[in-house]
Amino acid sequence: MMPSLMPTYARENLAFARGEGAWLITEDGRRYLDFGAGIAVSSLGHGHPHLVAAIAGQAARVMHVSNLYRVPEAERLAERLVAATFADSVFFCNSGAEANEGMVKMVRRAMAKTGRPERTRMICFEGAFHGRTLAMLSATGNPKYLDGFGPPVDGFDHVPFGNMNAVRDAITPQTAGILVEPIQGEGGVREAPVNFLRDLRAACDEWGILLALDEVQCGMGRTGTLFAYQQSGIEPDVLSAAKGIAGGFPMGAILARESVAKYLTAGTHGTTFGGNPLAAAGANAVLDVMLEPGFFDHVLARGAQLKAGLAALAHEMPDLFEGVRGRGLMLGLKCVVPNTAFQAACVEEGVLTIAAGENVLRIVPPLVVSEADVSDGLARIRRAALRHHVPDTVLRAAGAR
Ligand SMILES: *Cc1c(COP(=O)(O)O)cnc(C)c1O
Repeated sequence: MMPSLMPTYARENLAFARGEGAWLITEDGRRYLDFGAGIAVSSLGHGHPHLVAAIAGQAARVMHVSNLYRVPEAERLAERLVAATFADSVFFCNSGAEANEGMVKMVRRAMAKTGRPERTRMICFEGAFHGRTLAMLSATGNPKYLDGFGPPVDGFDHVPFGNMNAVRDAITPQTAGILVEPIQGEGGVREAPVNFLRDLRAACDEWGILLALDEVQCGMGRTGTLFAYQQSGIEPDVLSAAKGIAGGFPMGAILARESVAKYLTAGTHGTTFGGNPLAAAGANAVLDVMLEPGFFDHVLARGAQLKAGLAALAHEMPDLFEGVRGRGLMLGLKCVVPNTAFQAACVEEGVLTIAAGENVLRIVPPLVVSEADVSDGLARIRRAALRHHVPDTVLRAAGAR
C-alpha cells in the first residue's frame, strides 16, 4: 500500500526532533551537523533566538490578513531590500518557483506594455534549475523533470551555461530577456564567470531586453554579500529570492527596477499568502542579523575555512575527489566516486550534505556556522572519505544503494 505522505522524495530514513545552531538532533538524541541547511534555507541555523522570538511574537499578534490590507511588516521588509539592492520595488510570494514565475510574467508584461508584445521568450541555460511549476519546468528544461507532464510551456530557449556566442545566436526578435542563476545550485554549484554576467548585461542593454537573475539559492547572504550579483559589478533588471530569505519560513520575493515593476499594476498579479505578517516578520528578523556589521565577513571567513579544508581533502584523495568549487558558504565538492554514495558515508559520520548535478556534493551550512563546527564538519567529512578511500568499495556501496 502506498504511504499516506506522497513518496515524491527519496527520503533519508532520519527524522529530527529539534535543532540547535548548525545541529539537528533525532528523537533518540543522535546529533547531525547540518551542512545542507534544509537545501540552503536555514540561513540562521536552527532555533536562532532572534528569529524564533520574531516569529512567535508575530504569530501571537496577527499571522495573516491578506493583501487586501496594508501589511506594515512587509512594507518595512520591502524598504530594507530596496535600500540594500538595485531594486526599486519588491513583490512577496511563497516559494522560489512562484518568484520565478512572477518574474517571467513581469518581464513579458514590461515588453507588452512598451510596444513589444512579440517579445515573450526567455533565454535559459543548460544545467539550470528554476522550480517545478509547469512554466518553471520549461525554464529548467531538464528532460527528466518534464517527462510525463505533457507539452512543455512555450517560451524558453536553452543554451550552454557560460557560452556567450550561443547566447548571442539565440537572441531573436521574440526574446524578452535572459534568465540565469549567478551560481547554479542544483546544477552542481557552477559559477557563472564574472565576465559572462557582464557580457549578459551588455547584450541585454544592446538588444533592449531584460536581465533576470534567479538568486533563489545563491542569494540572501550565501556567497558573502546579500546577493551574489553584488560581487559582479553589474545589476539585473529583476531578481528572484526565496530559500534563505525567512530562515526556514516559506517565502519568495521578486526584486525589480521601477522600469519593469511599474507595469504590474493592481490586479495584474497576486498571491493569497505572499508577504503575510508572519513571513515578513521572519524575513525582517533574518535581515536584522544579516545586516549587522561583520555578518558577511563571518560568512566569507567560514567559507574560506571550509573551502580550504575541502581543497586539502581533494588534494589528499584524488581517487575520491576532483576539487572544490563555489563561493562563500555555497560550496561543491566535485566527486570522482558517486556523490550519493559519499553523501551516505557522510550521514554515517553525522554530517548532512546534498547531492547536486555533475556528481557534486553540495555543502551549504547555515550562515551562522561557527569556526569549531566547520572544523568538526571537515573532520567528519574526512572520516567519511577515509573509510571509503578505496574506490571499488565506494562503487560497491553505490551499487547497494
Ligand atoms: C530551489 C530553487 C528554485 C525553486 O524554489 P522552490 O521554493 O522549491 O519553488 C528555483 N531556483 C533555484 C536557483 C533554486 O535553487
